[in-house]
Amino acid sequence: MNPFSNLGIRHDIVNAISDLGFENPTPIQEQAIPVLLSGSNDFVGLAQTGTGKTAAFGLPLLELLDFEENYPQALVLCPTRELCLQITNDLKNFSKNIKNVNIVAVYGGASISDQLRQIKRGVQIVVATPGRMIDIIGRKAIDFSKVQYVVLDEADEMLNMGFQEDIDQILSTTPEEKKTWLFSATMPAEVRRIAKKYMENPFELTVGTKNTGNANIDHEYYVVRAREKYAAFKRIVDFNPEIFGIVFCRTKIETQEIAEALIKDGYNADSLHGDLSQQQRDKVMKRYRERSLQLLIATDVAARGIDVNDVTHVINYSLPDEIENYTHRSGRTARAGKTGVSISIINSKELGKIRQIERVIGKKFVKAEIPNGFDVCEKQLFALIHKVHNVDVNEEQIEQYIPRIMDEFKDLSKEEVIKRFASLEFNRFLEYYKDAPDLNAPAHEERGDRSDKFARGGMRSDYTRFFINLGSVDDFTRGDMLGFICNNGKISGKAIGKIDLKGVYTFFEVENSSADQIQQNFKDVDFNGRSVRVELAGDRDGGGRSGGSRERSGGRRDGNRGGGFRDFSGKRREERSGSSRSGNGSGERRKRW
Ligand code: AMP
Repeated sequence: MNPFSNLGIRHDIVNAISDLGFENPTPIQEQAIPVLLSGSNDFVGLAQTGTGKTAAFGLPLLELLDFEENYPQALVLCPTRELCLQITNDLKNFSKNIKNVNIVAVYGGASISDQLRQIKRGVQIVVATPGRMIDIIGRKAIDFSKVQYVVLDEADEMLNMGFQEDIDQILSTTPEEKKTWLFSATMPAEVRRIAKKYMENPFELTVGTKNTGNANIDHEYYVVRAREKYAAFKRIVDFNPEIFGIVFCRTKIETQEIAEALIKDGYNADSLHGDLSQQQRDKVMKRYRERSLQLLIATDVAARGIDVNDVTHVINYSLPDEIENYTHRSGRTARAGKTGVSISIINSKELGKIRQIERVIGKKFVKAEIPNGFDVCEKQLFALIHKVHNVDVNEEQIEQYIPRIMDEFKDLSKEEVIKRFASLEFNRFLEYYKDAPDLNAPAHEERGDRSDKFARGGMRSDYTRFFINLGSVDDFTRGDMLGFICNNGKISGKAIGKIDLKGVYTFFEVENSSADQIQQNFKDVDFNGRSVRVELAGDRDGGGRSGGSRERSGGRRDGNRGGGFRDFSGKRREERSGSSRSGNGSGERRKRW
């Protein structure tokens, strides 16, 4: 027997949710459905978004309502238009095999006359945001006198957004004896008050511990200097080539600035905030949902109710003012049993806030280090290699070119061809990142003590660190590399310090007195027909020496610099041209969603 049938859900609804891929109930569904199906309880469910709570209340509603009758029997209130549409859509999907079901979504920012027309035609379930609902009630366009069930979804969010009075007013038009089902991710005092005011002995259900974030989310923080925050953020993004993320800023202006800077720097990003028109917001969300947008930069309010599966990272570009909002933000990832990472980029003064959040969510953060430029290069290189490996080959189309391509490569071995393909992109990364500085705030700033400049990176002050574009993939051992440096740099092996052999590059240290000589002598060196580059390296852990921070100086990643990475998606250019929005959109401003 289907587990949902065991919970008391009828056959045609079970069939509909099976089509959606619901095979087993989520914990909240398992526990809430039997209680709600009785129809005789008020109910408080403490659950994060992504736990399956829409079906937890939606399936019982569909069981309990009489669809032979065409008057409002259930009202679902939720904070945002996004969520309103999501719930409506879910309910329609769940009820697709039931006859005469009429569900209307009522929300701001869309034509009210359409909504009024739908209501007039007859409706059993109204899903609404409070502002527009008040408007419609004010027009006496709806009769809630026979409503049996009211659902308050994301109650804490509705209160945060200042909907308390609207909720009071709306509920005053519904009968005393209705049942109220309240769902909230957190239970601040205001939500408690609402529960007390509108409910009688509610059945309380907590999924997970109270206020605890989703267990599938890893929480990380990076400590950077305030002025290097943007560069650090970009580096984190670069280190995660497959990122599909939501980036939270504190203000609309910050949201817009970050999005614009990212777009300029060749990233696939756009912003979502309250000053955009409805149409603009829809467009951004559509692109994000379709994954033609990789980074969505949003304010807390704008991102509420966003239900996009498979978000890999939530990035707190700025920590939220309210700790509660951290839970909402991080809850946008790790939905429906997936895992996700919630990253916070902070300055050393904000460590206290991290500790506070840890206490609230009951989970420890991991302190992470901003990766250095070469780590990023390596990560991107292998992402590229995987892409090449997994690319769908259009046999039919490529076939005609194969003989010519083979001819072009006939003098190269397989290894050479692979190396050249990889280098095509990789060289651009290296170029972009070669002088990239360490962006981690020095430990002494964090701890308030003064530590030795080189203590962390382990670099000795009497040595200069170099980068060379040869490594183990070129069949070098450390011994070979030592010989190669000595012979070509025309220096004694004694002058060479540590050799850090990597895949396609190597770091090596040279006594300061020989540093100029090395640079000079490596000017025209070739290796297997390839030009060898020896350059001053930023210390891997302890801070760059040459100081040329491209990121800080706002270096663009497109053109011939580093931007090539993203070109591999084959999308970047069109997206950049399509998403370059400036100013405040149409300027249409709304207080509410
Ligand atoms: P919600 O918390 O209602 O926003 O649901 C989060 C996501 O989980 C949505 O994409 C749902 O479609 C999905 N979902 C809900 N219940 C189940 C289930 N029992 N099995 C699989 N997916 C589910």
